[in-house]
Amino acid sequence: MNILFVTPECAPYVKTGGLGDVSAALPATLAALGHDVHVLMPAYQGVKVEGEIGAGVDLPPWGPWPAAHLVPVKVDSGVTMLLLTCPSLYQRPGGPYVDASGRDHHDNAIRFGLLARIAAQLGTAQSPLRGWVADVVHANDWPCGLAPLYLAQSRLASPRETTAASVMTIHNLAFQGTFDMWTADPLGVPGHWRGIDGVEFWGQLSMLKAGIQFADAITTVSPTYAREIQTQEHGIGFDGILRARSARLRGILNGIDPKVWDPARDALLPHRFSRDDLQGKAACKAALQARVGLKAEAGAMLFAVVSRITPQKGIDLVLENLPRLVASGAQLVVLGQGEPALQQALRDAAEQYPKQVAVTVGFDEGLAHLIEAGADAFLMPSRFEPCGLNQMYSQAYGTPPIVAPVGGLLDSVTDASADPARGTGFVMTGADSEGLADALARAQRAWREPRQWQRIQANAMARHFGWEDSARQYLEVYRRAAVEAGRGTAGGL
Ligand code: ADP
Repeated sequence: MNILFVTPECAPYVKTGGLGDVSAALPATLAALGHDVHVLMPAYQGVKVEGEIGAGVDLPPWGPWPAAHLVPVKVDSGVTMLLLTCPSLYQRPGGPYVDASGRDHHDNAIRFGLLARIAAQLGTAQSPLRGWVADVVHANDWPCGLAPLYLAQSRLASPRETTAASVMTIHNLAFQGTFDMWTADPLGVPGHWRGIDGVEFWGQLSMLKAGIQFADAITTVSPTYAREIQTQEHGIGFDGILRARSARLRGILNGIDPKVWDPARDALLPHRFSRDDLQGKAACKAALQARVGLKAEAGAMLFAVVSRITPQKGIDLVLENLPRLVASGAQLVVLGQGEPALQQALRDAAEQYPKQVAVTVGFDEGLAHLIEAGADAFLMPSRFEPCGLNQMYSQAYGTPPIVAPVGGLLDSVTDASADPARGTGFVMTGADSEGLADALARAQRAWREPRQWQRIQANAMARHFGWEDSARQYLEVYRRAAVEAGRGTAGGL
């Protein structure tokens, strides 16, 4: 199958969160299963991709978009990266979505409109890559949301030509890509698709809604989140649309990439370890305490957070529970960045308890690995969590996670109190402060019983979060989408 995976971020070139990891691992797994996978991504400032560089293609200016360039690079994983180069849109300071001061780039509608437009073109007879046309265009999150709409538009305009099937994956429903409705003009959204059955969301244009409405199939990143987002409580205004499209919506749990996240061969760790020999883990704990300036104490239970610092992630719940945790002699290490007020509250806590609380504000892949390896338990009290990756990494690293009972956390952690024989972590009774206090107390009790704790660690490390199962499920979705698009049979394209 010719698969075009279009994404605003892809590790290791550019990553702000879980989507970056998924964009690296899922395409590589699909390629390993024998498919021809191209990953389309903007060439932001500083992005360097090593590999065999193919002949670039010029993309002429069109509508609001300046001339651009598409550069294919065949990388080691067997995937072809397609770098969408357009200096005036993508070569600038800041991240993929925000400028250097943390504000959305003012022209995000145009920046990501171009990404979606080129993705859609690659699924039509007008594909700019001569000789390569996608069978399926897999769009990820709001920045790619217009791709399914543009494909639907091409299909209507040229019914006799084959057009790629489209799949929209929601990695986080909270990011909806809303813009003033006037942007529909430059983006070329036809008038009859600007209403409630099209892209309109509370009077604005939502790129995510475009994707949901026009995709042949919709997925999200865990089965529980797929159910939750169809409820008023978690639907953030999209529950009605998602219920209406429920037959096309499926939850597929993300996996983890064992080449990157395996404590037995992790080059970012000072000491390596495995399920059979945890000595290196104790050494990592000492190294972590030394690196972040915590008191070097093997007997202090070390809790960890690696996260975007936002209310979604329940950081305020951690802060509420901190005085009791510190009083019990435990330690906390935090790595993250995000909302200034929460960051400041964490920094204040670190100042108040310098030997027991260490906070690093920033994005640091190496420190994230050391924290996963060196901590005793990992905290993820998220208010909602589409999938979550850190609870999987922490299980692989023998660091039982304490998680809220939501989304992908429920699908990937087994509560050790409810199921002592198979438990891999602790599931909070509620996504609130009391729920976290209760789970912390249970974890601390279990940690004091080494045999019990070692069993939980062993169960966690034995758990398999491979990508292959998930990739096969995506292939099924692609085939179903092709049937919906009228270009395949259920048996295959
Ligand atoms: P989300 O995508 O909502 O941010 P996930 O748990 O799905 O959350 O994925 C987060 C990814 O980003 C993980 O790979 C995590 O290790 C990484 N990450 C988050 N914050 C940081 C940070 N400050 N430094 C390094 N890695 C981070």
